[in-house]
Amino acid sequence: MDNSYDLIVIGSGPGGYTAAIRGAQLGFHTAIVEKYETLGGTCTNVGCIPSKALLDSTELLEGINLKAAKAGIEVEGVKVDFNRMIERKKQVVKLNTDGLNYLMKKNKITVLRGTASFRDPHSIVLTAPGAEDQVYSSTYFIIATGSKPSTIPGVTIDKKRIISSTEALSLTIKPSSLIVIGGGVIGVELASVYQRIGVKVTIVEYSDRLLPAMDKELGKELEKLLKRKGIGIFTSSKVLSATANEESVDVSYLDKEGKTITLNGEYCLVAVGRKPYTTGLGLSNTRILTDQAGRVMVDDKLQTAEENIYAIGDVIRGVMLAHKAEDEAVMVLDNLKGMKHPINYLRIPNVVYTWPEVAGVGYTEDELIAAGTPYNKGKFPFIASAKARAADDTDGFLKVLTDPKYGEVLGVQIISARAADLIAQAVLSMDFEITDNELAKISYAHPTFSEAFKDAYLISSGRGAINL
Ligand code: FAD
Repeated sequence: MDNSYDLIVIGSGPGGYTAAIRGAQLGFHTAIVEKYETLGGTCTNVGCIPSKALLDSTELLEGINLKAAKAGIEVEGVKVDFNRMIERKKQVVKLNTDGLNYLMKKNKITVLRGTASFRDPHSIVLTAPGAEDQVYSSTYFIIATGSKPSTIPGVTIDKKRIISSTEALSLTIKPSSLIVIGGGVIGVELASVYQRIGVKVTIVEYSDRLLPAMDKELGKELEKLLKRKGIGIFTSSKVLSATANEESVDVSYLDKEGKTITLNGEYCLVAVGRKPYTTGLGLSNTRILTDQAGRVMVDDKLQTAEENIYAIGDVIRGVMLAHKAEDEAVMVLDNLKGMKHPINYLRIPNVVYTWPEVAGVGYTEDELIAAGTPYNKGKFPFIASAKARAADDTDGFLKVLTDPKYGEVLGVQIISARAADLIAQAVLSMDFEITDNELAKISYAHPTFSEAFKDAYLISSGRGAINL
């Protein structure tokens, strides 16, 4: 058997599978290594896809509970079959992993099952349970080994009562209560899933607001809206410990006033972030370095200290997002083939799939203020949108931040129904440097959520909104 390739990709998450497909398309004889039973990595198996399946199911329920009667639709006997919901989530994941198997075959990519460990910069040892170790060599390697859930001092994830997102996506019995440590993206999304099916949910967040990595106004607005739905939210609160017994967990935290408060819940979800994953990768057999946070160090081309080894996705610096990993995968391969493909990290959108959804791209208002950058602001509340009123989805706002001199879009921050899709237009506008003046002149279908952009750009360019 010939064990040599042009390209071996280690890890089959969105970074890895995209790299393998792009590599094969560009003519590289390619293999992908995955130690997990299915392809797709965190995103497909225990991240983006299963969480969105549960968010979509529960969004439907929320629509029935909160909007149907108002819309003149009487629905009786609404019940949640938690098992069926989890079953559907599994099916959705399977459709996606099956799709990846198909794509590997279609692109003639060899799938190697097992854990890859560098033997030297040009070869890996593949270890798989019940099989003899195999050595594979390659001209190029791409490390796409992703990340794992992390925790904080005083809190140990036991995967029984004190759980990570992975377990929270696969509970078999609907819990009565859930304490979520961390009000970032994963925390608020899973808090929403469980609150919607009737679980008593409490979020304890260290920062002074939810979604601390995003524009301040977004987190504040989301906090107001999630509280209105019944989620208990404690910000500026530092978790000290989580202690589990057979039936429940005690979570102690220091509140705003410095008082120690203890909450009891059936489960405690630890959603305080993720750490890069390089365990067992054999980096010490190469010159590759990791930084203090454990991330594989790369240059602008995502090349490591070994010139034939690149790294992408969650295992390197930058936001931990599936599309960032995918973009980096294509960039590395294009560059290897001499096609210039830079990434502007400022134009990678950040999306939170709560309801309303939250999305942002470019600079936040807080960043512009801190940097002393002058800006114009056009803010449009969805209460003034005809479409939002028709859809009974008037919560939230859209905010554009533009350069006062040239009208370039510096940032767009949205909290609203469909924000996840709306943000695409903002990315495009920024990437092609369209001015607020021009963006206010193009035609937006009426009535749509997207026409909120028109009013926002009319305001930021100094002409005044039509609908406010
Ligand atoms: P991963 O997807 O983590 O894949 C790495 C793979 O490498 C794994 O399958 C692992 O088993 C394998 N591996 C590791 N070491 C080895 C080895 N030595 N040998 C062989 N295989 C190895 N992002 C979004 O953009 N949108 C979302 O909606 C979203 N939702 C999320 C929800 C949750 C609950 C979570 C946890 C994450 C979410 N993310 C989301 C983040 C997203 O999942 C990650 O950013 C993305 O998966 C990173 O892709 P990756 O290819 O770098 O690594």
